[in-house]
Amino acid sequence: MAVVSAVDNQPKGKIWLVGAGPGDVELLTLKAYRILQMAEVVLYDALISQEIMSLLPNTAEKIAVGKRAGKHSVPQDEINQLLVSKGKTGKNVVRLKGGDPFVFGRGGEELQAIVAAGLAFEVIPGITAASGTSAYAGIPLTHRDYAQGVTFMTGHCQLKSRPIDWNTYANPNNTLVIYMGILNANLIKQGLIAAGRSADTPVAIVSKATTSEQRQFVGTLKELDRLAVDPELVMPALMIIGEVVQLSDTLNWYQA
Ligand code: SAH
Repeated sequence: MAVVSAVDNQPKGKIWLVGAGPGDVELLTLKAYRILQMAEVVLYDALISQEIMSLLPNTAEKIAVGKRAGKHSVPQDEINQLLVSKGKTGKNVVRLKGGDPFVFGRGGEELQAIVAAGLAFEVIPGITAASGTSAYAGIPLTHRDYAQGVTFMTGHCQLKSRPIDWNTYANPNNTLVIYMGILNANLIKQGLIAAGRSADTPVAIVSKATTSEQRQFVGTLKELDRLAVDPELVMPALMIIGEVVQLSDTLNWYQA
């Protein structure tokens, strides 16, 4: 693919915070594709596919700093320090993250460290899991008849130690997209129902969205915890809760 871009064709000595999208390699932006090919050092997350990694030059130094729920392979402070020390070498450093770097990706924290060190950087957005999943599962996140808004939230384990106000999320005309929520499906179900969201609200859990292994598990809110323990559900997986989920019956086009 020939990629032409007016800006910065020969980048040198910068840190690029790059969103790799949700999985399908073709969902990379042209800009990400161009920068990946010029990378000299790459710090990458666990969710980056082999296909995307194969776009990097053979000569690039590739450092895995991936995190998986509960298993922090490299603490965030160390990632920040590593980024800064690699940035100081004057090489083209790519910090490659799944989805979009500013959606539950700690991209902001990493940039704060880069700014504090006085290093130059750019941010390249990626297609976030919510958009990729929505498109490939045939679930529009908004629709005039069903949802006037959409909320992205994290269902991470800290939900237990930092309880959230479910009333904010119980609006029946709003679609709720929950990242990192599978392990807390029961808590999410109970919280939403207690706050008044109907137990019959359609829900979908979509795993490995946009890849050849995409699977979707559809039901209602009262079944959310059951869907979340389906033995065929493989991480990563995203939850979509709301009336829009019923559209997947007719709009579901993707054959994994
Ligand atoms: N920055 C990323 C999100 C990082 S948090 C983004 O913008 O997409 C990681 C969570 O994203 C996972 O726990 C899962 O809920 C979701 N996720 C990422 N890729 C996914 C995929 N291909 N299919 C389903 N969910 C995905």
